[in-house]
Amino acid sequence: MNDVFMNTFHRLPVTFTGGQGAWLTDVNGKKYLDFTSGIAVNCLGHAYPPLVAAIAQQAAKINHTCNYYLNDTVSAFAQKLVAACSGAGMKKVFLANSGAEANEGACKIARKYSHDKYGKGRHTIVTLRGSFHGRTITTLSATGQDVFHKNFGPFTEGFVYVPANDIEALDKALDPNTTAGFMVEAIQGESGIRPLSAEYLAAAAGFCAQRDILLMFDEIQTGIGRTGTFLACEGCGITPDVVTLAKGIAGGVPAGAVLAGEKAADVLQVGDHGSTFGGNPLAAAAGLVVLDTVAQPGFLKEITRKGEKITSALASWNHPNITGIRGKGLMIGVDLTVEAWPLLEAAIARAQSGGNPGLLLLTAGKQTLRILPPYIISDEEIEKGLDALKSIL
Ligand SMILES: *Cc1c(COP(=O)(O)O)cnc(C)c1O
Repeated sequence: MNDVFMNTFHRLPVTFTGGQGAWLTDVNGKKYLDFTSGIAVNCLGHAYPPLVAAIAQQAAKINHTCNYYLNDTVSAFAQKLVAACSGAGMKKVFLANSGAEANEGACKIARKYSHDKYGKGRHTIVTLRGSFHGRTITTLSATGQDVFHKNFGPFTEGFVYVPANDIEALDKALDPNTTAGFMVEAIQGESGIRPLSAEYLAAAAGFCAQRDILLMFDEIQTGIGRTGTFLACEGCGITPDVVTLAKGIAGGVPAGAVLAGEKAADVLQVGDHGSTFGGNPLAAAAGLVVLDTVAQPGFLKEITRKGEKITSALASWNHPNITGIRGKGLMIGVDLTVEAWPLLEAAIARAQSGGNPGLLLLTAGKQTLRILPPYIISDEEIEKGLDALKSIL
């Protein structure tokens, strides 16, 4: 049955048929607690009733119009999204379908901004070692990890990598004569939940402002409340020029966005960029529910509290196989003395071999577990999941 899929994913031996809140059910009726949110996507869990209702209502009206026209739901979503990001200085948005597409848009904005103002040759985009920015040829070029740079060359020119948290190296790399932008994740997600230091981000913001280089925050994993503020850059006190979003933005419906502040909001003009599915009404209807939910009073504080509950419980175990715990909000990395993948297998096997619920976990690097629960997870579910993790460890 699975022969038709290209062999791109290392899959675990489970097939899901349904979900409810923080739980998933497999073809045999076994239950699994979801500590992944589908990699930071299903931020409101599975089958969240207002999200289900909004998608169903929109599906009964309009699923798609081309970008020749506006749609009421899409306009409402765009306005709310820009307002939600206005604390980080964002003024305008381009709606896309995915993270990679959002980052492509950001790179185009940086290059055109620089080209319009300074002419040819100032097109370099600096990114960090250990970064992850997507799977298209250009966003792979932006991704500063050699493992991704096999087989697919030639890559897009004009990307330069520097080590994370090295202010001196960044100072050198951000050459104002050649550099258009600096793209950065506040917490590197795929490579191990590695936060950048506040001093580093402040220094980066200073260099970018002085040299008229666009500061671009890839908030595809950190955004939409994941770290306890709507955007992670707000938590770091940074006002970027460009922010990209995807993953959690529409609670499980594919969507992405590029936002820009004062400097770059009007760089892209008619004909410069586009996307058939970008700004899709179904995704916008879902996105409105996400934005309204995370805007509820106290909602973001709960993300911080739940995250701290998890990290302090993990720390209290003093477990010999845990060597480090990092993260912010519900974006947590746990360094292990052992490989992480077998734990993912064991956490699934647990449900299949006995009466215990299974647990869904992620890796971020070979020896790091990544924990990204849905925001709606209850304290009791967190405790259940941690009990499962402890017994697997
Ligand atoms: C997941 C991710 C991307 C890529 O998003 P896709 O929707 O898979 O294209 C880019 N940047 C970061 C930080 C991510 O976590």
